[in-house]
Amino acid sequence: MTEARILTEVDPRFDIEVPVAIIGAGAAGLIAALACREAGVEPLVLERDAVPRGSTSLSAGLIPAAGTRFQRAHGIADDAATFVADIQKKAHGQAEPSLVNTVAHAAGPAIEWLADRFGLGFSVVHDFDYPGHSHRRMHGLASRSGAELVDRLRAAAEASDVPLLTEARVTTLIMDAAGVLRGLIAKRPDGSAERIGARAIVLACSGYAGNKALVRRYIPELAEAIYFGHPGNEGEALLWGEQLHAALRDMTGHQGHGSVAHPQGILVSWAVIMEGGFQVNLHGHRFWNESSGYSEAGVAVMGQPDHVAWDIFDGRIAGIARQFEDFRQAETQHAILMADSVEELARATKLPIAALAASFADVEAHKRAGSIDGHGRSWSGIAALCPPFCAVRVTAALFHSQGGLAVDEQARVRLAAGGIIPNLFAAGGAACGVSGPEASGYLSGNGLLTAVTLGRIAGHAAAGAARND
Ligand SMILES: Cc1cc2nc3c(=O)[nH]c(=O)nc-3n(C[C@H](O)[C@H](O)[C@H](O)COP(=O)(O)OP(=O)(O)OC[C@H]3O[C@@H](n4cnc5c(N)ncnc54)[C@H](O)[C@@H]3O)c2cc1C
Repeated sequence: MTEARILTEVDPRFDIEVPVAIIGAGAAGLIAALACREAGVEPLVLERDAVPRGSTSLSAGLIPAAGTRFQRAHGIADDAATFVADIQKKAHGQAEPSLVNTVAHAAGPAIEWLADRFGLGFSVVHDFDYPGHSHRRMHGLASRSGAELVDRLRAAAEASDVPLLTEARVTTLIMDAAGVLRGLIAKRPDGSAERIGARAIVLACSGYAGNKALVRRYIPELAEAIYFGHPGNEGEALLWGEQLHAALRDMTGHQGHGSVAHPQGILVSWAVIMEGGFQVNLHGHRFWNESSGYSEAGVAVMGQPDHVAWDIFDGRIAGIARQFEDFRQAETQHAILMADSVEELARATKLPIAALAASFADVEAHKRAGSIDGHGRSWSGIAALCPPFCAVRVTAALFHSQGGLAVDEQARVRLAAGGIIPNLFAAGGAACGVSGPEASGYLSGNGLLTAVTLGRIAGHAAAGAARND
C-alpha cells in the first residue's frame, strides 16, 4: 500500500534541516541536484532504492533536443520552434502551451550543459526517424541505454558532493499551522523514520504507472497490460498533490508500447517498424497504421487475440536496431526469428502462410507504388524488405504516466484554485508532461524531456526559493 500523507504540525521539529530536499534519484532528481548545487545550494537527495535506477534506467536514455551542436555535426538544422510545433502536433494541440514552450527551448541548452559541465558524451541518433519528429533530434549516450544515463548522472552528483540518502522512502510531507511546507518524513528499511526539514522540496519521484489502483482509475484500457516501468513509480507526488489541492492535468495521458518481446519481456525498438517493418496479429493480418507511433501501439496490440502481435522486418533493419542494447539482448535470448523466405518465416512463427504472405505482398506493393495503405500508412520512400526476413512476437505494455502535477515555468506546483505553492517543485514523471490527455499524444522522448528540462529548472528555482526563505 502506497503511503503518501500530508501532516500538519503546529511547530514542526526535525532531526536535520537542509535547504532543499529532492525526492527521487532518477534523471529528474539527479539533474535537479546538479542544478541546485551549481546555483550554490547543497541539496539532499532521498531515494527509496539502495541504488538509484528509476524508470530512467529502463529507458533507452534518449532525450529529444533541438538546435544542439550534436545535431549540427550531422548537418541537421533544427530549432526550438519546430520542436514546439512537433510536440503540439502529436498532442493534438492539447498540451499546455507554456510548458511545451519552456521545455522545448530548455532541452538543447540542457543537453549541452550536461555534456560540457559533467562530461556526458551525447550523440544524436542520426540513422533513423522517430515518428512525429521533423528532424533527427534524439540524443543519447554511447550504449543508448538509460542505465548508463542514470549511472553517469549519479557519478556527476557524487563528483559534485551532492549528498544522496538511499533506502530512504519519503512517506510524508509536513506543513506548519500556516500551511507552509516545512519538511518530510523518510522511512528506512529497519522501520525507523527520519524527520528532515527543508526550505524547498522537489518532487522527482515520478508518476503513478506502477500503482494499479491509480492506473485503473486513469488508464483502464492498459490496466491488464504488462507494466514495464520501475516499481517505484507509485504515484506519491500525485497523492500528495491531491491532498495539497494542487492542479492535476492530463491525467489519462501515458506512454504505452506495443513492441515488447513476449515472453522475454525485452523492448524491441520501434525503429524495426519505422524503417519499413509492420505488425500482424496471430491471424497474419495487419490491424492498424503502425506509423502513428509506438505509444498508441499499446492499446492497438492489447486489442488483438491473446494481446500479442508479430513485428515483421528484415536483416537490414535488424542491423540498425542492433545499436540498442535491448535489441542485442533480444537476439541473445533468441526472441528474433530469421528466415530466408516468407513461407519459412510463417513456419517459424506459426502464422498462417497465406495471410502472412498476403500482408507481406500488400505492404511491398504499397512501397513500390509509394502509396497509402488501407490503414492510412504511407509507404512512400520506404525500402523493400529483403531476405533474411525477421520476426519477433510482441505484446503491449504501459511504460509510464504522462499526467501529473501542473507546474509553472519555474517548475513550481500550481494550485487548482490558481496560484502556486512557492516552495514545492515537480519534475519528470511527477509533473504533468507535454503529451496532452491521450496515449496518441506521446511524442518519442517526452518522458526524459520533462525529466531533464524540468529537473534542471526545478533545481535552480528550488535553490532560489531556499535562499530567499
Ligand atoms: C521501458 C521504458 C523505456 C523508456 N524509454 C524512454 C526514452 O527512450 N526516452 C524518453 O524520453 N523516455 C523514455 N521512457 C520514459 C522515461 O524513462 C521516464 O519518463 C523518465 O525516466 C522519468 O524520470 P524521473 O526521474 O521522473 O523518474 P524515475 O527515473 O522513475 O525516477 C524516480 C525515482 O524516484 C524514486 N522514488 C519514488 N518514490 C519515492 C519516494 N517516496 N521516496 C524516495 N524515492 C522515491 C524511485 O525509486 C526512482 O529512483 C521510458 C520508460 C520506460 C519504462
